[in-house]
Amino acid sequence: MGTDLLCAPHFRYLYIIFLAVDTCFQLKRCIVSTWAKDPSLTAGWAYLVEWPEYHKFLLTVIDQKEMSTCSGLAALDYGNTKFSQGYSAMGISMGVCARHEFIQPNSVGDLQRGERYANMDYIFASFLRHIHRCLFKIVSYDIVCQWWKQLKARLAKLPKLIHLTLILHLIRFVIPKLHIETHTMLCKVMYSLGLVPGSAQTDGEGIEHPWANIGGVVSSTREMGPGSREDTLNNHWAWWNWQKLLGLVERLCTKLDCAKAEYAAQLEAFTAFSA
Ligand SMILES: [Zn+2]
Repeated sequence: MGTDLLCAPHFRYLYIIFLAVDTCFQLKRCIVSTWAKDPSLTAGWAYLVEWPEYHKFLLTVIDQKEMSTCSGLAALDYGNTKFSQGYSAMGISMGVCARHEFIQPNSVGDLQRGERYANMDYIFASFLRHIHRCLFKIVSYDIVCQWWKQLKARLAKLPKLIHLTLILHLIRFVIPKLHIETHTMLCKVMYSLGLVPGSAQTDGEGIEHPWANIGGVVSSTREMGPGSREDTLNNHWAWWNWQKLLGLVERLCTKLDCAKAEYAAQLEAFTAFSA
């Protein structure tokens, strides 16, 4: 069943979910303590993926050289060559709503050695399992031009817990506006948000970042054991989502007021020019 059956194509933009996948190399964790000594009280119940399954899956992944045919892929090479000694996690990847920056459930996973496809595939499938498969999705990711090739085949090999079948005609991959300039001309045509009907002025990434170092959360979690870290991060992001929700009405009202004033100014200029 496609969304075409549920609503006319020109109203489809009302039912699109915009998702952004992004990586943060600041949220590291040193090799401190173990899961046995420091278990989490919220393991897999909130924003992080279920650790045992994730860990088990990563052990089965053989290192492959992920090469690109596009020039915009500094992220992969940057991640792959970064110094990782002494760290249990070199950073995290996360799925957020690209319009409101709400962190998605089970959408955060540690990165052990850079931004490998295996980690990204798992995290992507993990949070997408909570979203209805018939909903039209626009997914932004800065290296999507390479990553989505063979994605379907790679998703088929993921563990049962997060097994995902993608309806490819209900999903559109894009590159965030800030990143697309470094890509080739072909990428700019194929993955530009400006050419996706219904995307309006979405930029595909947040203005503020959910991993902003509020209350020193980034630096303090570096030295924590795995469980304490998961609980702290879950707490932080629960607060983040909650304050986003509370602030949304005021924020949208302010934006609407700005748009009204701007509309009046533009209309006046246009009328004067036409006359
Ligand atoms: Zn590209």
